[in-house]
This record gives sequence, C-alpha cells and structure tokens, in this order.
Amino acid sequence: MKITVIGAGIWGCSTAYYLRKQGAQVQLVDMWGAGNTRSGSGGASRIIRLVYGPDEIYVNLTNRSFELWAELFENNERDYYQETGLIWLFSQEEAAYALDSKKRITELGFELEEVDLHDASTAYHQISFDGVKRVFFEDKAGILYASKCCELMVSKYQKAGGHYLQGYASVTTDNDGFLLQVNGKKIESDCYVFACGPWTRKLFPDILHECTYVSKQDVYHFAIPPQKLRLFDYHHLPVWLEYDPMSPLYYGMPMHLGKGFKIAYDDRSDLFDPDLDDRLPNAERLKTAREFVDRRFPLLREAPISCTEVCQYDNSMDGHFIVDHHHRFPNVVLMTGSSGHGFKMGPALGEIVAKHLLKGTGLPEKFKLSRFTNITMKQNQFLPY
Ligand SMILES: Cc1cc2nc3c(=O)[nH]c(=O)nc-3n(C[C@H](O)[C@H](O)[C@H](O)COP(=O)(O)OP(=O)(O)OC[C@H]3O[C@@H](n4cnc5c(N)ncnc54)[C@H](O)[C@@H]3O)c2cc1C
Repeated sequence: MKITVIGAGIWGCSTAYYLRKQGAQVQLVDMWGAGNTRSGSGGASRIIRLVYGPDEIYVNLTNRSFELWAELFENNERDYYQETGLIWLFSQEEAAYALDSKKRITELGFELEEVDLHDASTAYHQISFDGVKRVFFEDKAGILYASKCCELMVSKYQKAGGHYLQGYASVTTDNDGFLLQVNGKKIESDCYVFACGPWTRKLFPDILHECTYVSKQDVYHFAIPPQKLRLFDYHHLPVWLEYDPMSPLYYGMPMHLGKGFKIAYDDRSDLFDPDLDDRLPNAERLKTAREFVDRRFPLLREAPISCTEVCQYDNSMDGHFIVDHHHRFPNVVLMTGSSGHGFKMGPALGEIVAKHLLKGTGLPEKFKLSRFTNITMKQNQFLPY
C-alpha cells in the first residue's frame, strides 16, 4: 500500500516510521523539517508522565510509548531522554487527578506515592511548599529532548527505506473529490495521513474550525546562579507540576541541555496564528511567571532569563486528541488536537494508526470527530476535572 504522511512532527514521523516498519510504501512530507522551531514538537524538551486522572487511555498510550521510546533510543537513551521522576504539588486537599490514575499505574509496575509535606520539604528544600496541601511522586517520568527525538525518528524511518520530501502540501476538496499537491505537484496515494499540528485546521477548515483552536504558549528558562546549580540539576530536582483545580497549572523542569530552569504556564487564552504571529513572549505573562518563581522557588528570586521559547498548542475543544477519518474521503486520516500533551504519546499513536491502515484494527473511540456534536464549552485534560 502507498501512503503519504504530511507533517513530520512527532505524530506524523512516528506514523510514517511504523507504517514503513510494517511494510507500507511511505512518503513523509514536511514544509520546514522534522522538529522545526515553529512545530509543537520543535521545543527542546517535553515531559513524559503516567498520571492522567481517570483517562486510562492516556496512561496506556504513555506506557506503550515508554516501551517504543526505549526501542528507538537503543543504547543512546541519555542523548534523548532523562528520567527524573515527577513531583505533583496540589494546592487543595482534593487530589483526584493523581489518585484516579494510581490503580492503573500500579498495575503497570510503577509507583505513585503520596509524600508527607514535611518529608517533601526536607527532600526538596529548593521548593517552598507554602500553600501546598498534598504532594505526590511518580517514579516513571522524565524529560524527552523533543526536537532531537523527531530527528531520530525520521532518521530511523529513512534507514528503514522511507522516503522524505521537504515541501509545502496544499489540499483542494470539492464535490469531485480530494487533491493533494506538494510544491504544486499532484501526489497520488492509496491513503493520506495529515498530522500537521495547528496547520491541519487550515487545510480542513470545514471540519476542524469549530472543534479546534490554537493558543500561544510562552516558555521561560531561568539562569540558575552558579553556587545553586547543583540544587536545580536533575539529580536533585525532579520534573514538577503544580495542580490547582481552579486555575491553569504551572510546570517545569530541572536544568537540562544547558538552558536553565524551565517553567511554563498552561493558560490557553491567547489565540495564535502559527504563520502570522511573532514568537515573542508576552511581558505581562513573564511578570506573572517571575512572581510564581519568587514564591515557589525563592532561591531563584531575581534570577535572569537565560532563554525563552514561544510555541503553540493545537487544542481540541475538549482537550482530547483527534484521530479519525475524513467523513467524505475515507482514505484520508486526520491526526490533530494534541492539546498540549501529545508529544510523549507520539510513538504509540503512530503505531495505532499504522496498524489501523495496514491491518484493519480500530481507532480509539475517544478520539473520533463525532464527539464534538455535544461539546459546548472549552475544556482541557486538566480542567474542569
Ligand atoms: C510549550 C509547549 C509545551 C508542551 N509540553 C508538553 C509536554 O510536556 N509533554 C507532552 O507530551 N506534550 C507537550 N506539548 C505538546 C506537544 O509538543 C504536541 O502535542 C506535539 O508535539 C504535537 O505534535 P504534532 O506532530 O501533532 O504537531 P507538530 O509538531 O506541530 O507538527 C506538525 C508538522 O506539520 C508540518 N506542516 C504543517 N502544515 C504543513 C503543510 N501544509 N505542508 C507540509 N508540512 C506541514 C509542520 O512543519 C510541522 O513539522 C507541549 C507543547 C508546547 C507548545
């Protein structure tokens, strides 16, 4: 079977790789290259974690991805991944988002433990636990070096005999059918997979405009003073997330890749056009991030910014992924709506889509487009819970 995959972010390049591994003739197309700076997968680092509230599907997809990542990294894991564990800081007694995943995580052989507040503040004196009500630690979690992972996936795909083409894909759909062109040239395949992140909705506006939106996300790296470096490296500080059911969460990572202490805020209210808008951080949001660092990580008070990244979330209206066939063109599959949490699961999703197209296994019901007929307000995987 001949299949064209458009988009070499982690979803597209994983799909292309597993299609090729299972024997398909595959062409992978990207306008700017795998893990490019404008793509969602183009950041330096992304968190991988198993805690997902009651959404067992994501725990399972992440678990399968851990297995596939390990296969991909072979003996070079440290070039692509750093295991750190993850500490959850809950600002309320209510901690269902962690507790609801515990049973499945334990069944998979990993640990999610509640940590006494006093023990936590002794173990992590870089963190001020002021206002924190409960703390949990998950052991199987860490940092994926995102754009490097995309490059690795594409090189594995090419080594397996996959064809890669740098080019801009355009789509025309009308009553007569579907036409894909790359750099103005018609491309014919048995199947087409579109994994174009936030650009997917531009290619298929009639289907995706109402049920997706794109938000601007600013990421900051703070310069750790030399005498405090040790406290903020990944041997001494895990990845962390601060969960407050009433507001978007903060999350961050210890020093990695020589960039500094990373923090980001999960607010999705600034709409963003990935082609037209500048990738410059917003001054007001930076001020809020600084206030947060002063409060939660007082040893970094007044630390300067070492670098920033501006990226976008390709959100679906309910925060869950979209992986489904086009309703008019059954040989077109849309993979989009990764909603700010799709990197870690790229390999497992790619494997699922490859098996579906080549062996006829099903796609997850949760990710079908038909669900949007009943959705009336914006949600995401954390809020409302
Ligand atoms: C700041 C930030 C933090 C995040 N943190 C996490 C995290 O900690 N953990 C996690 O799991 N996820 C995280 N995510 C989400 C994750 O990065 C994304 O869900 C994931 O990378 C999306 O991958 P994708 O392949 O769907 O899309 P993308 O990576 O955006 O890839 C789409 C690709 O399609 C190409 N393309 C688009 N249009 C065309 C066209 N017309 N022709 C040719 N090529 C085209 C683009 O060049 C691009 O390479 C984060 C995202 C952001 C922005």
